[in-house]
Amino acid sequence: MDTLISKIDVDNIDMEEIKKQAEILRSGETVIFPTETVYGLGANALDENAVSKIYEAKGRPSDNPLIVHISDKKQIYNLVTNVPEKAEIVMDKFWPGPITIILNKKDIIPKRTSGGLDTVAIRMPSNKIANALIREADIPIAAPSANISGRPSPTRASHVYEQMNHRVSGIILGNDCVYGLESTVLDLTGDIPTILRPGSITKEQLEKELGTVKLDSALEKKEDNIKAKAPGMKYTHYSPNADVYIVLGERFEVIDKINKLTEENDRKNLKTGIVCLENNKKFYIGKTICLGETLEDVASNLFDALIQADKEKCDIIYSEGFTNEGIGCAIMNRLLKSAGYKIINA
Ligand code: AMP
Ligand code: MG
Repeated sequence: MDTLISKIDVDNIDMEEIKKQAEILRSGETVIFPTETVYGLGANALDENAVSKIYEAKGRPSDNPLIVHISDKKQIYNLVTNVPEKAEIVMDKFWPGPITIILNKKDIIPKRTSGGLDTVAIRMPSNKIANALIREADIPIAAPSANISGRPSPTRASHVYEQMNHRVSGIILGNDCVYGLESTVLDLTGDIPTILRPGSITKEQLEKELGTVKLDSALEKKEDNIKAKAPGMKYTHYSPNADVYIVLGERFEVIDKINKLTEENDRKNLKTGIVCLENNKKFYIGKTICLGETLEDVASNLFDALIQADKEKCDIIYSEGFTNEGIGCAIMNRLLKSAGYKIINA
């Protein structure tokens, strides 16, 4: 299909281009746009037909619910049956921003958007291009990450262009995604707020505002028999072509272990990629892909590193591991999934 490509500078937004892309959304077609988390693949959340095109473009199973994006807090009252006090607090404190809340949906949200559930996920993004597009389209926009299902989420304009050109009707090429990991998903339909997917807004930050916050039990273990409440969580995710392993242990034990494994792979003619912190790069004997220095850098560069490893045609990727505290919880969640939970202890 023909794809209208718009290059937009977030600091000087071309409203003519935004209007063209918003018109595509209004006509029931799909548009990819940047957000502060990852690039999203959007369509009219209230139009089943339009939403079907998202699933088609991504090759995504249709029981995997979508996040509905809005440009103004007030729109939430049209979409859900009840906005509890804790939702008001989250919206006031963290919106616009990288957190999605789950509430009971009104009938106006088709089941196709909510993956057959009676609840709906809603978020107001802070990225100015996303906000302008949704405001201009004047409809709530369902938008999962703009990757082929199962692959790492796109966080750079080049990722969406290379993967999705001709699979959607419009693409907005914008800036790199600041946070680089998908939003925190917080279920507010029960008594205790529950994190279904960790993200850049951390459990610690939420507890400061809301009191007790739980992590969904499906996040603690892999067992398939735990029916993840965030339904999409059961599918393969964030996986590059290469086989990914996380290597855990003391800093120099990890480095030694990865160097030994790299030598073995070299002997077998297998290409190794090493995903590591900038400070450790100089100690590795193999091809490194750096994640930067801070945990924020790691979050923002992780998917790009996995995509780069694919471009380098790596057969095997070893990644250093990170703390589970703060934003580390979201990083390790994505890394474990991309590794299919394969861990090597150094
Ligand atoms: P993505 O759009 O790719 O960021 O994925 C959206 C994720 O949000 C899904 O895979 C689910 O994990 C979660 N989600 C969306 N809607 C709901 C819902 N109604 N209940 C629980 N989790 C949801
Ligand atoms: Mg996704």
